Amino acid sequence: MMDLPLENPARQRLASDLLGWGEPRPRIDPQVADELRGHLDAGLAAIGDDLGRVATAQRGGHVLVTKTKLDRLVCDGLQLDAAPFQHTHASVRGILGHAMVAHDLDAGRIEPAAKVVEVVWQAEASRRPGDPASLSAWMNEQPPDHAHQLRAELTDLLEGFREVWPPLPPERVRIRTEEAIGISLADGHVRLFGRPDLLIDSRHRDDRARTLVVDLKTGRPRSEHDRHELRFYALLVTLSRGRPPFRWATYYVTEGRHEAEDYRPEVLEATARRVIDGARQLVRLGLRDPGDEQDLQLRGGSWCFMCQREPDCEVAAAARMEHALDQLG
Ligand code: SF4
Repeated sequence: MMDLPLENPARQRLASDLLGWGEPRPRIDPQVADELRGHLDAGLAAIGDDLGRVATAQRGGHVLVTKTKLDRLVCDGLQLDAAPFQHTHASVRGILGHAMVAHDLDAGRIEPAAKVVEVVWQAEASRRPGDPASLSAWMNEQPPDHAHQLRAELTDLLEGFREVWPPLPPERVRIRTEEAIGISLADGHVRLFGRPDLLIDSRHRDDRARTLVVDLKTGRPRSEHDRHELRFYALLVTLSRGRPPFRWATYYVTEGRHEAEDYRPEVLEATARRVIDGARQLVRLGLRDPGDEQDLQLRGGSWCFMCQREPDCEVAAAARMEHALDQLG
């Protein structure tokens, strides 16, 4: 383990179980990223000329694949008519919580937690106050006691984070927060894009995997969903750097715990197949006649609440009924 002060058992646990300090990193086949890219290009090429047709009709001239679009792979209706995002106490707590941790890491964790919260609050509250759908508009509309309560929760959240996370020495690791990663595939017809919350890279260079990807969550854990998001980020990191991360993890800030997955080539290959499936769905939906509902592939489930079609959707109603019967058991 690194010879750094780990003043409490929580930090010791995080340093060993998540950061993996003192653990040998896996040696990496130098071809792994090229092979993944080759699988992706071949799978996307198999979609045929329709891919190029749909791509050129899109803004930017490409089919954009993101973690959000992959989330909607489960149902065509959700992909077409996802409910617009609306700010709530929980979502704003999450957005500001991310911004606050990122700011704190970038600033060397030396300011009092309440000061960090104040700086982030002021920055976000003044970003787009004129846009009624913006985060800043939501923040500025809150009664003073609610804004105060939210700031107090954020301060507690940051103090909890600091308690558990050991200092990350800049001479040993490089931290990147919300780095934009874009990958162009299939002759530019497909673009993958994402912003992992936290990339922690060792400064040591050799033939081993030395990047840790961390996604921060402040809301309710959704293990399978969270794992898929992370795997997509791990794929992006692999393709952009030519080498996979040694581990990817969701860190649940409120609970102070993490769920991690170590690098395995087959996991990234499965994620690449999911990306191809996502592109195939987007192309199929891009070619469809908007009035034709016949060929839509609908599947109801716990995700239906995120869909604008939900109030009138028979598939969603059937899924609800099935779930209710299962509960009765
Ligand atoms: S309500 Fe559910 S089943 Fe119906 S279209 Fe939306 S996501 Fe699909």
